[in-house]
Amino acid sequence: MFDINRFEAFPLSQNSYLCPMKPFSLAIHGGAGTILRSRMTPEKEAIYKAGLSEALTAGHRILAANGSALEAVTTAVVLLENNPLFNAGKGAVYAGDGTHLLDAAIMEGHHPMAGAIAGVRGIKNPILLARKVMEDSAYVMMIGQGAEEFARLKGLDFAPQTYFHDALRYEQWLRVKDTPITQLDHADKGEKNFSTVGAVALDQQGHLAAASSTGGMTNKRFGRVGDTPLIGAGTYANRLCAVACTGHGEPFIKAVVGHDIAARMQYKGLSLAEATDEVVHQKLVDMKGLGGLISVDAKGRVAMPFNCEGMYRAAQIGMQEAEVEIFR
Ligand code: ASP
Repeated sequence: MFDINRFEAFPLSQNSYLCPMKPFSLAIHGGAGTILRSRMTPEKEAIYKAGLSEALTAGHRILAANGSALEAVTTAVVLLENNPLFNAGKGAVYAGDGTHLLDAAIMEGHHPMAGAIAGVRGIKNPILLARKVMEDSAYVMMIGQGAEEFARLKGLDFAPQTYFHDALRYEQWLRVKDTPITQLDHADKGEKNFSTVGAVALDQQGHLAAASSTGGMTNKRFGRVGDTPLIGAGTYANRLCAVACTGHGEPFIKAVVGHDIAARMQYKGLSLAEATDEVVHQKLVDMKGLGGLISVDAKGRVAMPFNCEGMYRAAQIGMQEAEVEIFR
């Protein structure tokens, strides 16, 4: 049944009063952490914001044209993976063995469907492999060599080790190589930075989706996997909300962040803003879980809380103006 309340905040489509656009929203992130204004030059800020805007615009275009949330989050994350600024795909940090071990997950909340990969080497766009797992296999999660074998079978693109090389991240790894130290991306002098990427969307069909991709932590060893590819922890979507996290993976896993937000909305009747606020500013703080998340609910409302200095983030609700932010 037509419900005027469902449409009032959204503009009519260009050509017809009888065919109003339904709510749709997209939010993306490029990581959170000790992002200090004092260490950010206007040039650097502009480059980060341009990277975020490019991904947001591409995903938003899909949603505005009545495309699916799944397609929008996939497209946005592919662009962030291709951007060396962010710790995912091309810009992934160095693992303990000097290679790049990639993790990714994607979930569509309506059906629901999910796919994830962890500890995969050489795959150009890990999110496309996670999506293949979701759409083209009977499994939800694949790891390591098995996942690489599946990627080859499905004809996904691989890139040589040189594609993933970045001088800054290499130096960062050399400093902690052969030590038990596992370090967060860009971490320096006590800083803690996370630059995993993620996207969440609501499409005009009312379907929600979330996607995340990361290289994890510099010098990670023993097959360490963080929260990013874990459905229900770093990435989650159902019919109420879609959530993508960035932060110190271990507390985020223990807090089961993504699913806990959906559960608080369902069982406690909280709004998205209230649920994300409780988890990010109370539960995670109590567990020393530094970081943040992006989220969207079934009405297209967006919440992007973080409990550290900054988070690379951008969002656009319907045809409203896009918001691209780094600091508080
Ligand atoms: N959550 C990621 C991990 O622990 C790191 C990040 O968000 O940058 O692997």
